[in-house]
Amino acid sequence: MTHSLFPQHDHDHSGCTTNLMKFADRYCQQAGLRLTKLRRTVLEQVASSHKAIGAYQILDNLAADGQKLAPISVYRSLDFLQEAGLIHRLESTNSYFACQRNFDDEFDQESPSTLHKCSEASSLVFLICEECGVIGEVEGASIGALISTVADSEMFKVDRSQLEIKGTCHTCQNSS
Ligand SMILES: [Zn+2]
Ligand SMILES: [Zn+2]
Repeated sequence: MTHSLFPQHDHDHSGCTTNLMKFADRYCQQAGLRLTKLRRTVLEQVASSHKAIGAYQILDNLAADGQKLAPISVYRSLDFLQEAGLIHRLESTNSYFACQRNFDDEFDQESPSTLHKCSEASSLVFLICEECGVIGEVEGASIGALISTVADSEMFKVDRSQLEIKGTCHTCQNSS
């Protein structure tokens, strides 16, 4: 596998964003979800990097762009995008980042239904680089199984689990 979740810092990100927006359009159409102009604009903001962005930063960016929006409408759009599985929320910083799968240009554009169902996954694992802020999302199936075992032993019912792991990505490790 040559694809890395952590891209080179100087990669041409416009290609990533283009892929993601194309994917979002197709996916929403197929899933019967309405990607309105506002939701699309908010998604573009979140997808503008591989880092997480907060609602107020989005509002600021759009205001600088001449689009004055009410916080509530941005929050509603973020909720929609999160439920659609297109973005994820970092609970530790209350910020959002685009689902990595959709940046992947190897993604089969013909069948958006193969989108991994992040919203249904029992466990999400996010690797967060503290140097550059880039977030990598990895499958947490075996970690999910471990969490289930621990929870089951206490007869604890897990609704969702999300692990946020802080560290340094390989790109930052190699650029010192
Ligand atoms: Zn990129
Ligand atoms: Zn990094």
